[in-house]
Amino acid sequence: MGLDHPARAARAVRQRAGNGQPPTAADAHPGDALVPARDHLPLAELELERSAAVPGGVELLAAPERDADVMHRHLLAGDRLVAVADDEVVDSELEGNVAFGLLDDRPLHEDAPYMERISDHVWWLPPGPPDRPSLCAVVGERWTLALDAGSSRAHTRLFLDGVPTTPSVVVYTHSHWDHVFGGVEIGGLVVAHARTAEKLAELAQRDWNDDANVNEHIRLELPAPRTVEIAQADIVFDDAIDFDLGAVTVHVEHVGGDHCDDACVALVEPDGILFVGDALSASPEEVLTTGKALPLYDRILGFRATHYVEGHHPAVETRSELEALLVKARDAANGVVVAGDGDSEYFANAFAV
Ligand SMILES: [Zn+2]
Repeated sequence: MGLDHPARAARAVRQRAGNGQPPTAADAHPGDALVPARDHLPLAELELERSAAVPGGVELLAAPERDADVMHRHLLAGDRLVAVADDEVVDSELEGNVAFGLLDDRPLHEDAPYMERISDHVWWLPPGPPDRPSLCAVVGERWTLALDAGSSRAHTRLFLDGVPTTPSVVVYTHSHWDHVFGGVEIGGLVVAHARTAEKLAELAQRDWNDDANVNEHIRLELPAPRTVEIAQADIVFDDAIDFDLGAVTVHVEHVGGDHCDDACVALVEPDGILFVGDALSASPEEVLTTGKALPLYDRILGFRATHYVEGHHPAVETRSELEALLVKARDAANGVVVAGDGDSEYFANAFAV
């Protein structure tokens, strides 16, 4: 079995498709312009905001306190006080209820990625090795929804430990293992496109201890002998499905494309965030076709989003950045390549079939 996101010959600055390598420090500084409006609210203020947004008794399954050494190791945990990187000190009682990393300006992926609140309602766990994709939680007044489920129970646990409330529902962008193996750990309703649902059923039949069925990334994520439980779809849609979580909506739409025929994207409003999954990535064989990719670019830009979260890209992109990226892609499809530009070369290689 090949990799879902094969290594590219030229190491692109942009990790457009996960290739199992942690990005270099140069691509992953959260303080640069690639990352929008990082929320630097003090934790106490966040807590007040959260309490106001979730009336008492309505909150579903508040995330229990957990041993979260891995997640929080950048915080200097004390008994009562937690000192964070930029010298702010907060009460650890708040710590279990708010996202982490908000006050921390370390480069992403210095070691493990950590949760970031990227808009009023969206928390993001950036991608990481071996092929862990971006995960988002959309936190509404009534419900919390997860966008993709992660590569394993452990990956998903990292995510769940960082979100303010446990998601009651998870929506998949597609069926690739790295986005769905963690679904059982969420324990909520699974919502999937009809084709994704079919593939989930197939994945459940596969012998994941047969070497022919696993790739290097799966071996790293889940050392043998491995137990893989595939949560099946509870709610299946064909073209689109909408969620009103309370003060925030999620519109999920099937877009297809070269990466996989079941690719979906999710628009979070009013936040203006489009969760793209791997829709813009090449196929597992590293191929893009003008017939599928170029209409998809128009369609992606047709969503009224201001920021974009891609499955294996280590920064949130602004609209102008995504537009510039897709210009490079179109140029590459037309044979116009910018030598030395990782994105341009990535697209050129993928279109040149
Ligand atoms: Zn994928």
